[in-house]
Amino acid sequence: MKIKVLERDENFIRFLVSGIDVSLVNSLRRIMMTEVPSMAIDNVIMIENSSPMKDEVLAHRLGLIPLKTDLDAYVLPEKCTCNSELGCSKCSVTLTLESEAQEGTRTVYSKELISIDPEVVPVSDKIPIVKMAQSQKVRFEAYAKLGLGLDHVKWQPTSCCTHKYAADIQVDHEKCNLCKKCLDACLKQVLAVNGQVNVIDLEKCNLCKECEKVCPIDAIRVERIKDTFIFNVESTGVLPPERIFLESIRILKEKTDELKGFVTQIKAGKA
Ligand SMILES: [Zn+2]
Repeated sequence: MKIKVLERDENFIRFLVSGIDVSLVNSLRRIMMTEVPSMAIDNVIMIENSSPMKDEVLAHRLGLIPLKTDLDAYVLPEKCTCNSELGCSKCSVTLTLESEAQEGTRTVYSKELISIDPEVVPVSDKIPIVKMAQSQKVRFEAYAKLGLGLDHVKWQPTSCCTHKYAADIQVDHEKCNLCKKCLDACLKQVLAVNGQVNVIDLEKCNLCKECEKVCPIDAIRVERIKDTFIFNVESTGVLPPERIFLESIRILKEKTDELKGFVTQIKAGKA
């Protein structure tokens, strides 16, 4: 298996994977979306709330604030030995907020959440939580925990996670009469004419085959490469996108090891 990074920034990565089966690629995509743990607020103790928003709605909004996640410092609550509903220092982070609208209407933003762990804080300071009229007040303690997107979308670390087949485009330059119909048909600007029709941005091709359809003399061929895929992974900011991918591989390996162990037990007649 070979990996080539095509594009990368803080929260997004696009890479080409070759020498891999479609079922494996899809397994990794699904694991990235639903089984890579991330932090989210799961319990809220409301001490005071005179804002127009009900406690339950406010708690729900808090749960949806993406929190930067330190996967190496915390464990999933079900794997923790504390067996406590609100968790311990190994499986839970406390965030507090106390805010009052002293001079007219004001909006409470995510930057006002104070975390006991500086590594577990909202990914953005500008997420509005609640709007209050003068003299209204909110005060609460919130408990964030690791969880899985399988259980609730608030724990999903990716906002976008897709893959597509990589394309192979062949132009028969001897046949081609430079009518440029294929260029007009391609919405992704994959082709250009420079004395002849050239492929200038192969990774953008989405295999729509419009260029093939409009070519009156069959001079262009577009095929998918069966073992090569382009992945787009966009993180919500909770984890770096490459960490999400690496975690998905680790989780898949854990699952296959578990299955192997089970098969060995069956063969030994123990299961
Ligand atoms: Zn614990």
